[in-house]
Amino acid sequence: MCFNVVTLFPEMFRAITEYGIIGQACKKKIIKINFFNPRDFTNNKNKSVDDRPYGGGPGMIMSAIPLYMAIQKAKSILKNTTVIYLSPQGIKLEQKKIQLLLNKKKIIFVCGRYKGIDQRIIDDQIDEEWSIGDYILTGGELAAMNVIDAMSRLVPGVIKKKESIEEDSFTNRFLDYPNYTKPNNINGMTVPSVLLSGHHKNIRLWRLKASIGKTWIKRPDILEKLSLTEEENKLLNEFKSEFEKNID
Ligand code: SAM
Repeated sequence: MCFNVVTLFPEMFRAITEYGIIGQACKKKIIKINFFNPRDFTNNKNKSVDDRPYGGGPGMIMSAIPLYMAIQKAKSILKNTTVIYLSPQGIKLEQKKIQLLLNKKKIIFVCGRYKGIDQRIIDDQIDEEWSIGDYILTGGELAAMNVIDAMSRLVPGVIKKKESIEEDSFTNRFLDYPNYTKPNNINGMTVPSVLLSGHHKNIRLWRLKASIGKTWIKRPDILEKLSLTEEENKLLNEFKSEFEKNID
């Protein structure tokens, strides 16, 4: 999988290219990230990459021409790509969209800075605008890294055990079940005994019930959109009555 990023700060991406699972995937060349820096397309002595907004007002805008040229350079090398501007005004990303984005083999991410980018570049060069949430970052780099990280972990070979991805919240229908590791006892808090039993059927049922129950408590909106199987309904009812007993 090859990602392409138009950014003033390619060094920031070392946070994902050099660390953790995505870092290993980059070393093994399963994932590759190419960078296109608008600063390389400036023709002023200071290599400045911001400019005042027409109409006045506070803040600066990314210089239009160097940004335009960096996008053009990326497009000329890649052909038939989707150009995505990371923007708080874009459509909010969620796991399903991340999975769909994987079908696009070539993506150019454009990272804004300052007060953002010239509207004519959005109109002329950008195919899609994506937001990572209703809050404002200082630049698109962290947003692009978010998306690249989320997409990369779904690329075959990046995470060894496929099943571990399939159980994740938002990939599975329910939130992930509670996980425990050694030791069995931390200050009197013990691991549910079924998980130590080695009884696979009971462990599956316990995890499914815990998943459904957690979703009911934390994200009832997800549960409302699902139609539950008979088994799932039974487990949810069991969870609810155990939960109510614990409150009493
Ligand atoms: N003035 C812009 C607005 O209100 O829509 C915000 C500009 S923001 C300070 C600078 C850059 O950070 C944006 O151009 C965008 O690339 C990026 N950015 C900020 N928040 C973001 C978010 N929630 N999702 C994706 N990108 C974001």
